[in-house]
Amino acid sequence: MNFKCPTCGCNELEEVVTGVRVVTAIESVAKEGYVYYHEDPERHGGESTYYQCSNCGEELRWDHDSVVSSGEELFDWLTENNMIEVPTE
Ligand SMILES: [Zn+2]
Repeated sequence: MNFKCPTCGCNELEEVVTGVRVVTAIESVAKEGYVYYHEDPERHGGESTYYQCSNCGEELRWDHDSVVSSGEELFDWLTENNMIEVPTE
């Protein structure tokens, strides 16, 4: 992938998921409040997903009203903007 932010030119892309419930089994907790987990967190649900530049926070958009909101759309967006190698066969 060859992401380049249209606004600032940064190459790092982030996925943001809102409204997720994260459930993690706990092993122990320290006095200062540091929690030791038993395993990796499980993510449940997720209300919406979007993608943003990790430098300036610009969201990827199709136009003024609609953001790129799924992995499939992200692939299409990157393809349209020549930021990903599409295998040709
Ligand atoms: Zn940017």
